[in-house]
Amino acid sequence: MTLDHPTAGAGEVSTRSWDVIIVGGGVIGSAIAHFLAAEPAFPGTILVVERDPSYARSSTALSAGSIRQQFSTRENINISIFGFDFLKAIDEHLAMGAEAPDIGLVEAGYLFLATDQGIDILRESHAVQRGCDTAVALLSPDALRERFPWLKADDLAGGSLGLAGEGWFDAFALLQAFRRSATALGAVYVDDEVIGLTRAGDRITGVTLRERGNVACGNCVNAAGPSAAALAAMAGIELPVRPRKRLVFYFLCPDAIAGAPLVVDPSGLYFRPEGEGFICGMPPPPEDDADSTDFDVDYAMFEDCIWPRLANRVPAFETLKLRRAWAGHYAYNTFDQNAVLGPHPDVGNFLFANGFSGHGLQQSPAVGRGIAECITFGAYRTLDLGRLSYRRIPARRPLREIAVV
Ligand SMILES: Cc1cc2nc3c(=O)[nH]c(=O)nc-3n(C[C@H](O)[C@H](O)[C@H](O)COP(=O)(O)OP(=O)(O)OC[C@H]3O[C@@H](n4cnc5c(N)ncnc54)[C@H](O)[C@@H]3O)c2cc1C
Repeated sequence: MTLDHPTAGAGEVSTRSWDVIIVGGGVIGSAIAHFLAAEPAFPGTILVVERDPSYARSSTALSAGSIRQQFSTRENINISIFGFDFLKAIDEHLAMGAEAPDIGLVEAGYLFLATDQGIDILRESHAVQRGCDTAVALLSPDALRERFPWLKADDLAGGSLGLAGEGWFDAFALLQAFRRSATALGAVYVDDEVIGLTRAGDRITGVTLRERGNVACGNCVNAAGPSAAALAAMAGIELPVRPRKRLVFYFLCPDAIAGAPLVVDPSGLYFRPEGEGFICGMPPPPEDDADSTDFDVDYAMFEDCIWPRLANRVPAFETLKLRRAWAGHYAYNTFDQNAVLGPHPDVGNFLFANGFSGHGLQQSPAVGRGIAECITFGAYRTLDLGRLSYRRIPARRPLREIAVV
């Protein structure tokens, strides 16, 4: 995977001071660059530093590419409502002349399943979701059987089905569209790595690039994905975000399974249609979920843990054919599994857009807009993302997201 957008030359970058330097040009960094560059009230210059312009190992390129409104936190629901509307009207937002981005958006629901043990939590989340005006329905086991005859529901107490505003799309195409638009609007991308931050008391005054040396900045944004904690540490700041490996498996099923949503099993397993087949995955148990930076695929996990659960939920998956698999990394917030957004309380020109814990792709439009507002106006203007600020970490006030897939 490569991008054909222009990147800056050596002299152009190091001899200038930038109003905003964004570290990391994945979907989050590029969404921020787009919204900032598109903001008429922001007259400044934007540099995006990306160490791997192929994005081969980025979370964005390795994502499962799905969006849902079924979260347990008000903020996450509203973030995804904006995200879905943005994706649906992407032609209006990110078209380049006559060329509209093709992100292949499929509108299809998530189906969260619960046994007796989990049904109260499902109902609680449902109440929060309805309070945000989302179209979700609680289904009884009989209603599940009727609607999805291929699903085994004997052990279930119910399910929550998204009726609108959920689905999946091409993650890499969204990244490209944001990057292309940001570049066209004047943001500059440079292929380099930030290896140091210069902090003078309560300000970041510049970054050190591996190839180009020191570059001054007015604001610095941490959009470094699973490497976010390493970047924060360069400013002497601790961030509870860890790289946690997640595997995705693609398989074919000889029997037709019509109209499958993205199913989230009570065991944590998920699967959804993809092309001719399905993708699936499941988080490892917490005791096996160590920090990881490798990309090795553990096929035994599929044989021993995933396939039995797939076949238990959908008997037709007994005869599935595994075709391929890949590994990527969540930027996992060990504190409360939610994003950390906005300025650091003591270093006000260092802004976070980190810790998405597996739901950052769908959050990129709202986060891009929100961080651009923080930089331009010093406050959120549209959606208040204040409860997701870094402040909650030293204050030990988690804003826990229960619905992590
Ligand atoms: C297997 C998997 C499935 C997922 N499924 C979903 C899903 O269905 N829906 C959803 O919403 N989200 C999903 N996610 C999460 C989502 O992909 C991420 O939250 C999102 O892509 C984060 O984007 P990002 O820009 O923060 O990180 P990245 O895409 O990782 O980008 C960060 C970039 O920063 C660069 N970088 C890091 N450090 C430096 C440095 N020091 N100098 C220069 N550059 C640097 C890296 O090279 C990288 O390109 C999934 C993730 C994985 C791994």
